[in-house]
Amino acid sequence: MRKPPSHDLQAPQQLPVTLAPCTDELLSSWVARHADFYGVPPLAMLRHCLPEMPSLRAADLNLNDNQVLRLARMLCADPETIRQTTFTNVAEPSRCLIAKEPMQSCTTCYLARTEPRVVIRNQLLGWRITCTLCGGLLQYPTGRDCPSTFGHYHATALIGERLLHDEASQRDRTWASPVRIARLLLMRRVKKPRVGDYEPWRYRVLGALIPDLDDVVDRRSLPTSSSPILPLHLRPALLARIAIVERSGPEMLQMLHGQMRGENKARFSSAIEEIINSSCRSTASSQLQLI
Ligand SMILES: [Zn+2]
Repeated sequence: MRKPPSHDLQAPQQLPVTLAPCTDELLSSWVARHADFYGVPPLAMLRHCLPEMPSLRAADLNLNDNQVLRLARMLCADPETIRQTTFTNVAEPSRCLIAKEPMQSCTTCYLARTEPRVVIRNQLLGWRITCTLCGGLLQYPTGRDCPSTFGHYHATALIGERLLHDEASQRDRTWASPVRIARLLLMRRVKKPRVGDYEPWRYRVLGALIPDLDDVVDRRSLPTSSSPILPLHLRPALLARIAIVERSGPEMLQMLHGQMRGENKARFSSAIEEIINSSCRSTASSQLQLI
């Protein structure tokens, strides 16, 4: 019989005092509030229960059943409550859209003035423009007023948000992964800089669909390929275009291919091929859903 790992044997005792989680609170936030109460660093608090855990974020993203049980015991909660504080159920491809820091908040649902600060799951979801709890529009957590230039895309952006939400929740499948479409739309249309004031870092595939976009993005607001999350005020443009590409089908991807230049054209081509091949394996079709 396989000998269980040593940490399986280290069932922590329940803490003498435990704090209830806030609605939709993230596990790392909940653990950090316990750490503050007991006067220890947050990672030390987590490792008191899960010594094998490399970081608080790792615990937010992945917990196995044994780890859930150990945390449930220490925090005097049922296992389902522990799971609901994590992103364990978020589909793997969607995890690149989970931010490392809070990017947004809901003025109705978020307790902004707590000390230590509470972080709720909603604040890290890079595909949301509306609150998962009340449906209200999300805002920057700092209260920074940065109205979206793309408010007129709101209705279509909500469809894109739902597509990404369904993919993350592992519910419906469409002809192509909305996360893959997002990555495709955020690719650069050209790779090498040219002379003059032409700034190719600015020009994304998305800008071919929304000409205004090239003028409002700045270097800081550009996402990386490992974390394709747009700032909140630019996000409706991306979500709306995901919805339109999803509805239009592969023909729109071919049209966008014509906008690419140089070696990025070849990269785009292979990305399209990958999407279309995976869509052939999908049993569902958005075209059928629209009938
Ligand atoms: Zn809310």
